[in-house]
Amino acid sequence: MDKNAKIYVAGHRGMVGSALVRRLQAGGYRNIVTRTHAELDLLDQKAVHAFLAAEKPDYSFIAAAKVGGIQANNVYRADFLYQNLMIEANLVHGAHLAGVQRMMFLGSSCIYPRDCPQPIKEDYLLTGPLEQTNEPYAIAKITGIKLCDAYNAQYGRQYVSVMPTNLYGPNDNYDLATSHVLPALLRKAHEARERGDSEYVVWGSGTPKREFLYVDDLADACVHLAQQGYDGPLVNIGTGEDVTIRELAESVMKTVGFEGRIVFDSSKPDGTPRKLLDVSRLASLGWRAKTSLQDGLRLTYETAPFRQ
Ligand code: GDP
Repeated sequence: MDKNAKIYVAGHRGMVGSALVRRLQAGGYRNIVTRTHAELDLLDQKAVHAFLAAEKPDYSFIAAAKVGGIQANNVYRADFLYQNLMIEANLVHGAHLAGVQRMMFLGSSCIYPRDCPQPIKEDYLLTGPLEQTNEPYAIAKITGIKLCDAYNAQYGRQYVSVMPTNLYGPNDNYDLATSHVLPALLRKAHEARERGDSEYVVWGSGTPKREFLYVDDLADACVHLAQQGYDGPLVNIGTGEDVTIRELAESVMKTVGFEGRIVFDSSKPDGTPRKLLDVSRLASLGWRAKTSLQDGLRLTYETAPFRQ
């Protein structure tokens, strides 16, 4: 990618989009286009098509999505399905109409079947039933991948899909009802320490395993692939290593300096037992994660809004 290339980052206020903008700016890219939600509603087909026709970006990153943790996905099922479908359909079709040749669509590892072999290879997509708690989100994201594939096949576009594992870092959502596990535990452990509590509550059994990638590493991987001109099939983006929720809860306690006890709330769902990505395709493209979970937790805690 030319440093003067016009690059549109959809969702630049979110955790992923803001990391992409940071990485692009650090890499010397000078022509980054963004729109806030107030300026451009991605659910509005006409507005999105007009925006893309006017801007004609050389490259777009689709990091805009309705996202949330296990509880939010499970409760707001219609919103997760509808909004994600509309965002993708408007951006992909609008880009095609505007003659935008290259784009990167970001999904999530929950697109894979609930009980597939571990680590999860890209080829396992659509080989079995999905996890119920986030099925609407997964269906929308699978549709996004298939949209990109279809425009590539029918119109010769180069719309690439990447599937990050569980992400964390600056600008995450810390609302305890809708967030993912890692920001939720950081906040709960911090508040428990501040209050002088002797315990903190972790949902589920603590036995599910998850892989966590620091969001600046994700942004680096995306820019690496874009710079290479990668236009092959789906690529997983992760660290290749996972931890149990109990282990995560313990690491969070160390980061925060909280010395109490963990209490497991079994009334809350566990979700998928394990989702570790196979990252060999990404490795063969010359990229691997750099930030350890310990370092990432520390960096994230330093920027956490509940401490400001
Ligand atoms: P998932 O990866 O799609 O299942 O989404 P989450 O990040 O929300 O949850 C991952 C795992 O962490 C599940 O097993 C949750 O039950 C568990 N977990 C433990 N404590 C919490 C918490 O406070 N918030 C959330 N969101 N998950 C938690």
